[in-house]
Amino acid sequence: MEAKKNIVVMGAGYGGITAALRLARLFRLHPEYQIHLIDRNPYHTLKTQLHEAAVRKTEISIPIDRIIQRQNIIFHLGEATRIDSIGHIVRMGNRSLSFNYLVIALGSQANFYNIPGLQESSFPLQTLRDAQQIYDSISQLCAYAATEPNEERRRDTLRFVIGGGGLSGVEFAAELADHVAQCTRNYQVNPHEVEIIIIESGSRVVPKMDESFAMRIHKKLLERGIKIITGTKIDSRTPDTVVLSSGEVLRTRTVIWTGGIRIQELVKESGMKTGQLGRIIVDEFLQVEGNLFVYAIGDNALALNPYTKEPVPAAAQFALQQGRLVANNIYATIFGGVRRPYRPKVLGEVVSLGRHLAIGWLALPLSKKITFVGFLGSLLKTAIQERHIFLLRKESRKWITY
Ligand SMILES: Cc1cc2nc3c(=O)[nH]c(=O)nc-3n(C[C@H](O)[C@H](O)[C@H](O)COP(=O)(O)OP(=O)(O)OC[C@H]3O[C@@H](n4cnc5c(N)ncnc54)[C@H](O)[C@@H]3O)c2cc1C
Repeated sequence: MEAKKNIVVMGAGYGGITAALRLARLFRLHPEYQIHLIDRNPYHTLKTQLHEAAVRKTEISIPIDRIIQRQNIIFHLGEATRIDSIGHIVRMGNRSLSFNYLVIALGSQANFYNIPGLQESSFPLQTLRDAQQIYDSISQLCAYAATEPNEERRRDTLRFVIGGGGLSGVEFAAELADHVAQCTRNYQVNPHEVEIIIIESGSRVVPKMDESFAMRIHKKLLERGIKIITGTKIDSRTPDTVVLSSGEVLRTRTVIWTGGIRIQELVKESGMKTGQLGRIIVDEFLQVEGNLFVYAIGDNALALNPYTKEPVPAAAQFALQQGRLVANNIYATIFGGVRRPYRPKVLGEVVSLGRHLAIGWLALPLSKKITFVGFLGSLLKTAIQERHIFLLRKESRKWITY
């Protein structure tokens, strides 16, 4: 019997799980092709909701076996350690898997920019494990502060510094402000002793968003008692302090680092051409330069927006679009169809500022936009998150239940 041809998807995040499901659907009448999916975790993480899990312990993972059940997908649980794009082999420790086509969708990780002490003494917010650690630490600190008789030490314990005022930093800060109110009530801690401080190196928070939105978000954060220090970097970190580029020293037990991302070494070591942040350079079909059989998507891909010539941002909405596109393009390549170039569609931007407030906009037909502020915005944010689960369900033709 002839060996099956392997289409391997690395990473079961937004881009990877979408690509794998679409491939399984397209190839359902071609049993000579086998779809493989690799991830280090047995679950798909709803990464855009990590800030909620870190503060409220909400459920943000879906078991992969539920998503792919009865699909022509073999799931490999393990850490991918090497990509041999020339020899067509992916390694997971001492296991290896050969591929005919490969989709790289391993996402990104925190970039600590070699800031002294930062990696050792701060919490990144990139994985479910990070979120669980943050949740445990905040709960412990609240409990500890309740029994600490010394006011200065109490204040140091209840000072939370967020490094990076981008989307994830502000969403986390606002969520924390909500939670702290509950924590101070539960443990009878004086709420005036709690401080949440965002440190942003740019001149404003959410620097990638439109200025008018950034100003509104800034105002809402201040209203919630969050301090914002812009135009300032974290220079170094010890377990008890943060030294800022202004020379100011903040005493704190907790730094949440959301100040930047980078791509894993594994990608760099594969010899593929990389650009900004270590993202893999891809062509308009999301194919890795110079390799007909390897595609990169999501945070891993340095795809250019053909209209603006700017790199497509690392965001879930683009990873999802790219996952669907590469699956279609691989199918088209094999069966002589027409491959389509990637044209990013910006569907909107919504920033949640705690449980009941969000600010953002959604794209409407004819290049129109609708903006949202307030509770309606937070309903919209929930709807966007639900839409992802709905699309997964639709793609897998199954109901996924938690
Ligand atoms: C706190 C936070 C909030 C965000 N909010 C938003 C938002 O509101 N809107 C938005 O559009 N974007 C948001 N983003 C960005 C968005 O989450 C990412 O752009 C998106 O997840 C990228 O999708 P991806 O498929 O490239 O990678 P991911 O979704 O990160 O998936 C990568 C997968 O690869 C697996 N993996 C990684 N390395 C290995 C390895 N070596 N071996 C095996 N498996 C591996 C991981 O376990 C993971 O399942 C947010 C990000 C964060 C951190």
